[in-house]
Amino acid sequence: MIYNIKGGVDVRFLRWELTRYLFQISEIFRWNAKNACDDFPFTVTAGADGNHMEGSKHYKNQAIDMRIWFVDDRGEREDLPDDVIQNIAGDLRKLLGPDYQTVIHEGSHIHLEWDP
Ligand SMILES: [Zn+2]
Repeated sequence: MIYNIKGGVDVRFLRWELTRYLFQISEIFRWNAKNACDDFPFTVTAGADGNHMEGSKHYKNQAIDMRIWFVDDRGEREDLPDDVIQNIAGDLRKLLGPDYQTVIHEGSHIHLEWDP
């Protein structure tokens, strides 16, 4: 599996500056999560849909949210450990450079936007 798009998520018009990196971004998640989860199911949980702050890059197809939890062997939700999330954010910065911003939301997802 390369990546999942959650039901109801609108990425029809997501900017090329993000879609071009989706495969590598999913690999950054899968690689860094591998000690916590055998095959982390990278999932985009918001695109242009959903409720975001006024002026959010989501509404300009310049942002996605990405899940930072998975369902473990016991069928329970498990959050990725903080150090894994920090490593993911570091790799995203390395891959994407200064025109992109990674925001670690509290709870369920990392927000990534293209903001040149
Ligand atoms: Zn977001």
